[in-house]
Amino acid sequence: MAEERKSLEQRHQMSDIERLRHSAAHVLATAILRIWPEAQFAAGPPVENGFYYDIDLKHRITPEDFAQIEAEMKKEVKANNVFERIVVSRAEALELANKGRLGALTERGAPSPFKIGNLEEIPEGEEISLYKNGDFIDLCAGPHVMRTGNIGAFKLTHVASAYYKGDEKNPQLQRIYGTAFKNKTEMEAYFTMLEEAKKRDHRKLGKEMELFCFDDDVGPGLPLWMPNGTVLIEELEALAKETEFAAGYDRVRTPHLARENMYLTSGHLPYYAESMFPPMQLSLDGAAATQDQELRNAYTQLHDQLREHTLANPDRPLTGRGEELAKEIDALEKKIDALNAGNRYYLKAMNCPHHHKIFGAVPRSYRDLPLRLAEYGTCYRYEQSGELFGLMRVRSMQMNDAHIYCTEEQFESEFNAVNEMYLKYFKIFGIDKYLMRFSTHDPAKLGQKFVDAPELWKKTEDMVRNVLIRSGINFVEVPNEAAFYGPKIDVQVWSAIGREFTIATNQVDFAVPSRFGLVYKDRDNTEKTPLCIHRAPLGTHERFIGFLIEHYAGNFPLWLAPIQVRVLPIGDEEPLVEYARGIQAELRAAGIRAEIDASSNNIKGKVLHAEQSKVHTMLVVGHRDLEAGAVSVRLHGKGALGAKPRAEVIADIIASAKERRA
Ligand SMILES: [Zn+2]
Ligand SMILES: [Zn+2]
Repeated sequence: MAEERKSLEQRHQMSDIERLRHSAAHVLATAILRIWPEAQFAAGPPVENGFYYDIDLKHRITPEDFAQIEAEMKKEVKANNVFERIVVSRAEALELANKGRLGALTERGAPSPFKIGNLEEIPEGEEISLYKNGDFIDLCAGPHVMRTGNIGAFKLTHVASAYYKGDEKNPQLQRIYGTAFKNKTEMEAYFTMLEEAKKRDHRKLGKEMELFCFDDDVGPGLPLWMPNGTVLIEELEALAKETEFAAGYDRVRTPHLARENMYLTSGHLPYYAESMFPPMQLSLDGAAATQDQELRNAYTQLHDQLREHTLANPDRPLTGRGEELAKEIDALEKKIDALNAGNRYYLKAMNCPHHHKIFGAVPRSYRDLPLRLAEYGTCYRYEQSGELFGLMRVRSMQMNDAHIYCTEEQFESEFNAVNEMYLKYFKIFGIDKYLMRFSTHDPAKLGQKFVDAPELWKKTEDMVRNVLIRSGINFVEVPNEAAFYGPKIDVQVWSAIGREFTIATNQVDFAVPSRFGLVYKDRDNTEKTPLCIHRAPLGTHERFIGFLIEHYAGNFPLWLAPIQVRVLPIGDEEPLVEYARGIQAELRAAGIRAEIDASSNNIKGKVLHAEQSKVHTMLVVGHRDLEAGAVSVRLHGKGALGAKPRAEVIADIIASAKERRA
């Protein structure tokens, strides 16, 4: 797929760190040209965690070249050159590009072909600017930092290859990646974090802890949840069900597929078709099957006739009888398609349409509202195989979904309650850093990018903003990024090691309920369309557990730990093993996942094995414990806490799990 050019609007939204990193890309180009003056440059944008520049160069750049390039970059940073913006006409820019002066230190024998290509992409009427640092001049819309010296720390990281403009018909270029920061301390912290993230990689820990697996016969992007991972799922669902029950939600269950018709109504088809699995066509039966066969026979006959007709005049455009035949064939195709449409099914990519159908299944009155329908629904999305990544990008996902149908008057308090639910979850999981990205509409684009309902936009956005401000939640407002049918909030959280994850989205929807003809009878006996809030605070099991694995480094708190307790008797004498079994039985009776290690290993080996399995709490019992009615407690990764009375320890374990202590 071709890469999209950033709009001026998007460029103005570049954050400070993105400006700095993009500026570092210019410095990288400057350095490369000092070493290889013939290098041709294409695009050098900031990306997540860094920047790159695409280069056409005979010499294949490898990490062995990085030290030399970085040394040249250092000189440019030290020179502290100003990033000077120069506005030019299209003709002037083209002239410079033809002389090879763009993406270069001097005029060159050959033109700058990619810069000419980039120039062609700038829409007529948009200002064309160059940026100059020292001798280096580039075609660029900016923005940049003031001076090269503002780039406090940088590092080249890797080389990849990429096609010009992302199109494989274009030449293949070398893509040099790097990262840059305000200062050395921040950069060092970043690389330390990356090291730690590697140790906590959810794919690595998921395998070691036997949480989930993938299998080629099942298919890429379709995780299998093993017993230990299923424990995590069940605990999260128990938390969600308990919380949602207390908040007045009703649970529903819906099938994993539906007819094409429903997705046409919801608007997922045709717009979202690329992200859905292709449809399943079921065969027709009875009268419909006969009719289908007749239509297909007629279709074949017409096709034969058309072929005969065109054989006589192969190169002429269709006229007369030929044109008529083509039209008839077209009409028949549509008829066959319409007849079969009712038997085309899609795997569901979203739960919303199913929930809308439940809302519409019985007459609703204002007394039924707010109606909150919740389901841990499994959805299927057709991610490109190149995009699949562990649990983070998958093709089947179980979503902490719910749809709240409410009146305009109820909206603010409902939205507030959703926010409080988020904050409650953040507290349970020890998520200290989070950000709500509140995307709003652009009034200039009503009726095109955004549903044409100016008053509803204003009203709902005001209410959402009020809730966010009043509850003291950390948020930023991003104009022009709302969904087509209403404002939305993307929730970003940071793991314990400071890596960012987008886990959930809340959306306000004031268009789709009316597409489904959803109404309730109001006090005044008139029919009104409810608002709908889509919310999924725990996101999908896949993404959220992927996050939690990194966040906890696999050392889950007691309530989540796949193996909560293991009793380790010192030796295998009958009374001691009996005592250990009694403790295990008492814990299991209270719903605690307790095991016993009755192997012939010595205690050192048993402890080591339990530590490796990330067992949360180890209860070591020896003769002295047996006589005193005690147990010796040991916590994973924290070591021994000493002997305590058995009853006290058991009560504490049960309470910790029940309260979901951190
Ligand atoms: Zn630039
Ligand atoms: Zn939804």
